[in-house]
Amino acid sequence: MVQRIVISLEQVNDLQITLTAAQHHYLERVLRLGAGDRFIAMDGQGHSWLAELTLTTPTAHAKILDHLDIQTELPVAITLVAALPKGSGFDEVVRQCTELGVAEIVPVLSDRTLLQPSPQKLERWRRIAQEAAEQAERQIVPPVREPLSLVNHLETLPGRECHKFFCEARDTYPHLLPQLTACRLDWPIMLAVGPEGGWTEAEIQQAIAAGYQPVSLGERILRAVTAPLAAMAIVAAVLETHEKPQ
Ligand code: SAH
Repeated sequence: MVQRIVISLEQVNDLQITLTAAQHHYLERVLRLGAGDRFIAMDGQGHSWLAELTLTTPTAHAKILDHLDIQTELPVAITLVAALPKGSGFDEVVRQCTELGVAEIVPVLSDRTLLQPSPQKLERWRRIAQEAAEQAERQIVPPVREPLSLVNHLETLPGRECHKFFCEARDTYPHLLPQLTACRLDWPIMLAVGPEGGWTEAEIQQAIAAGYQPVSLGERILRAVTAPLAAMAIVAAVLETHEKPQ
């Protein structure tokens, strides 16, 4: 398997990539690549290149051999809006939803979310998203946005041309799957999932007033770290199997 690393577009100059010390270290010491070995460099924004390591000192470079036309992204963007769970639970949410193809992650603070996360946590989630995108062979690294309150998120919601689903366990809302298959699938999708304690009634009403459709993910109560995966898997499966209209 050809190893992949994320670089930034500014490192690409003509047919050469200038590697940072950390990338050089990673390629040489962690992946054990030497001069002449090949790897895939991706900029996390949709570009990928096949490159060959050329070890020059003091700065290591790589020669670009080919611009790769890989496509592993979902046909429409899915934004996960997730209330922050306790402890380190969000690490897994970021990792697994990135593997499943999420385009953007918006952490929200809800009535039952305890703490504003530290800047270190945000950095950590961004690093996890990068690692998971590399591992899943994606072309984009989903951005993890600055955490904001649910109310602020609802204020900035796109009004039209976007499907917005609000996952709620405690009511007889329709299941996400039929709701999804009934709608046009060329619009971006937003999925909101609550914290361990669930959304409050007021939050559910505010979300509905802001244009979210409440949906169920089945009869069982999923944990706050499980529900985003279930929702993502359902949406990804529908998007990747539906026939495009001719
Ligand atoms: N303690 C809460 C459950 C919270 S589960 C309660 O007892 O009601 C955490 C979040 O996962 C919920 O806010 C919801 O967004 C989502 N979730 C869990 N199970 C779900 C289900 N069966 N259907 C829809 N959403 C679900």
